[in-house]
Amino acid sequence: MSEMCAASRNRLAPVKPCPCGRPRGYEECCGRHHAGSPPPDAESLMRSRYSAYVLGLEDYLLASWHASTRPAVLDLAAGPAAKWLGLELKAHSAAGDTATVEFVARCRVGGRAQRMHEISRFVRENGRWYYVDGVLEGAAGR
Ligand SMILES: [Zn+2]
Repeated sequence: MSEMCAASRNRLAPVKPCPCGRPRGYEECCGRHHAGSPPPDAESLMRSRYSAYVLGLEDYLLASWHASTRPAVLDLAAGPAAKWLGLELKAHSAAGDTATVEFVARCRVGGRAQRMHEISRFVRENGRWYYVDGVLEGAAGR
């Protein structure tokens, strides 16, 4: 209830729910990171990358990808159109400058529902977290 009151006070910008699933508006959640504020931890980075996929923010995805594994280009429009349906965080563990985040992302591609269960690895360099790579778990629908 207090969240609703806070939202109704925000008259200038109607609150859009954040695609990542946190109970916050996009502007206070992943939107801040997309605008340039670095995510404070790997989980926030993972969520903001999911939101970036939902919104098609290729520049953000590349900028938050570690240089050692980053693709030269990321042409989301060239792949099959995915409608992202939701994100579920399973686990987040960090040790120093490395972290792993396990999640399930659901999407629909060409009318078929798909479930992507991945364990992603992240590293922190100069105080900034980067996505390194991910391992698919029980990849259904591939
Ligand atoms: Zn978010």
